[in-house]
Amino acid sequence: DFIKESVMDGIQDEDAMPPESPGASSAKSMLQDERKTLPIYPYREELLQAINDHQVIVIVGETGSGKTTQIPQYLHEAGYTKRGKVGCTQPRRVAAMSVSARVAQEMGVKLGHEVGYSIRFEDCTSEKTVLKYMTDGMLLREFLGEPDLASYSVVMVDEAHERTLSTDILFGLVKDIARFRKDLKLLISSATLDAEKFSDYFDSAPIFKIPGRRYPVDIHFTTAPEADYIDAAIVTVLQIHVIQPPGDILVFLTGQEEIETVDEILKHRTRGLGTKIAELIICPIYANLPTELQAKIFEPTPEGARKVVLATNIAETSLTIDGIKYVVDPGFCKIKSYNPRTGMESLLVNPISKASAMQRAGRSGRTGPGKCFRLYTAYNYHHDLEDNTVPEIQRTNLANVVLTLKSLGIHDLVNFDFMDPPPSEALLKALEQLFALSALNSRGELTKVGRRMAEFPLDPMLSKMIVASEKYKCSEEVISIAAMLSVGNSIFYRPKDKQVHADNARKNFHSGFVGDHIALLNVYNCWKETDFSTQWCYENYIQVRSMKRARDIRDQLEGLLERVEIEPTSNPGDLDAIKKAITSGFFHHSAKLQKSGAYRTVKNPQTVHIHPSSGLAEYHPRWVIYHELVLTTKEYMRQVIELKPDWLVEIAPHYYQLKDVEDSGTKKLPRGEGRAEMTQ
Ligand code: ADP
Ligand code: MG
Repeated sequence: DFIKESVMDGIQDEDAMPPESPGASSAKSMLQDERKTLPIYPYREELLQAINDHQVIVIVGETGSGKTTQIPQYLHEAGYTKRGKVGCTQPRRVAAMSVSARVAQEMGVKLGHEVGYSIRFEDCTSEKTVLKYMTDGMLLREFLGEPDLASYSVVMVDEAHERTLSTDILFGLVKDIARFRKDLKLLISSATLDAEKFSDYFDSAPIFKIPGRRYPVDIHFTTAPEADYIDAAIVTVLQIHVIQPPGDILVFLTGQEEIETVDEILKHRTRGLGTKIAELIICPIYANLPTELQAKIFEPTPEGARKVVLATNIAETSLTIDGIKYVVDPGFCKIKSYNPRTGMESLLVNPISKASAMQRAGRSGRTGPGKCFRLYTAYNYHHDLEDNTVPEIQRTNLANVVLTLKSLGIHDLVNFDFMDPPPSEALLKALEQLFALSALNSRGELTKVGRRMAEFPLDPMLSKMIVASEKYKCSEEVISIAAMLSVGNSIFYRPKDKQVHADNARKNFHSGFVGDHIALLNVYNCWKETDFSTQWCYENYIQVRSMKRARDIRDQLEGLLERVEIEPTSNPGDLDAIKKAITSGFFHHSAKLQKSGAYRTVKNPQTVHIHPSSGLAEYHPRWVIYHELVLTTKEYMRQVIELKPDWLVEIAPHYYQLKDVEDSGTKKLPRGEGRAEMTQ
């Protein structure tokens, strides 16, 4: 049940429809013609002139106007790349890959040659590369090797409105180098109109607006709140498909799991629709989607069929998919939140902001009038949604950036030129955590350990685990574990119809209750023994793609070990040594079994549980170290190993005292506000 409330303002251009290109003989010249139809094209000269005249420019333009794909090409055509690379940052790695692929195609070059991309653990660039798309995090890391970005002539911080942590830190760094590198051009581009703020920050840099072509969008709200937004989304898609005129659908979901669920259910339900209804082509897109499948969303929909794109926030402003006429917006996204008091970070499904809702709706009106179905009420929208999303810097663990900034020689973090400063509590917590990890000394200076840790593009806890493996003579094993953990939770394959087989296969790697980290190591080593066999992966319900990625990551970590001069050493028989190395990084993440059967984290007491997918779920060791917490129905620890409590005092004596790890039943009540439930 939808009610229509408003029509979004739209500017209707007379010549808005891109002309067909009938005479185009080759794909490349067709693409060249297509480039000329983009809203940014008429502003090409004016824009280049502005860039010529000013060092810093803020560029604002509707999503899909051509900022990301065109501006770097214009700069190349205007000769900027003769003086150095043009770098363009993206908050999301899929965007960096997909956009660079498109630009390579438009320029008729092979991806990785003149046009390339660089994302964590994957560098697809070469000596030839002059247009470099990369994640904001990668450019941040480039400062470590090249503090003045000497090899760049232009840096474009794209998608600035996303305000990711790395983008915010980049703002401060590029603003600083622009002062002494007068030849460096700086472009800050954004899809939304909060450009004044960027301009103010960059010493009143001029704002260049690219008028978008936006068609009117009908916005529909539900009349009552939806109990299950997934189900509501599916029903809405099917209704659109059956009743509405042709045009593709874009659905915003919060993550891979949701997307896979909706994908499966839609496939199932459309099977029953019969042949009178047009074909519905389902295209998922999310960060971990294999590259081969990412291109599918851009393929034109065949005549008579309809495409439905199931996307995360990535399709909000980072990627533009042509042909979308209907948007289904359940109103949620996953966002990171961080409690600086406890140091706990979690990824939670949250309502989106009004700004996001507007962006999402706008995706339906790019090439013609569109419709947006919001799966929440108008009252909800007006009263419950925040205007804007809080910048990541204000809701995340800062240990990683603090370590990076310290390695860049920036010591005075309190006076760093933040656009919006992080809470001082979070900054202190980060310093405290890095001190506990021995990355900083008591004066807050980088130690040798810290300098080594900063070389690894990993969270400080993982880097510390690797650096500590030197002492325990098990660096070979530990980098395998780090690589496997970095792949995420996509190692084990568990198809719905073969769950029992999959679970049995998985148990083989866990025998002896070795713990999840060691099980991951077992998987890696067994695969390696088969000479990286794909067949072996199939037989053991292991995702071969994830394993290949783990192998790539491991290779890179191996290279970094060499760089920080840690010998490759192997200690396969000594699981305690491996677990101690893990504990050296993750001692903050310790938890103790309670009489109730639940666990309580040792510092900052909080009740947690072992995730059901863990090999230790039925074993219940008294003490554990966990890799991460995930909140679903309960607060779960994912990836767990057993721990001997005295290790905590041995490994982190400045953090744990004997009384923290006393194993008797006379344990005192935990300090703090006593928020956690008392089970003893
Ligand atoms: P903006 O950055 O202003 O949002 P883009 O430069 O990303 O705009 O997009 C311009 C055009 O290029 C859009 O019409 C979009 O559909 C197209 N495009 C971008 N990436 C791809 C791709 N990988 N495949 C096909 N088309 C693409
Ligand atoms: Mg863009």
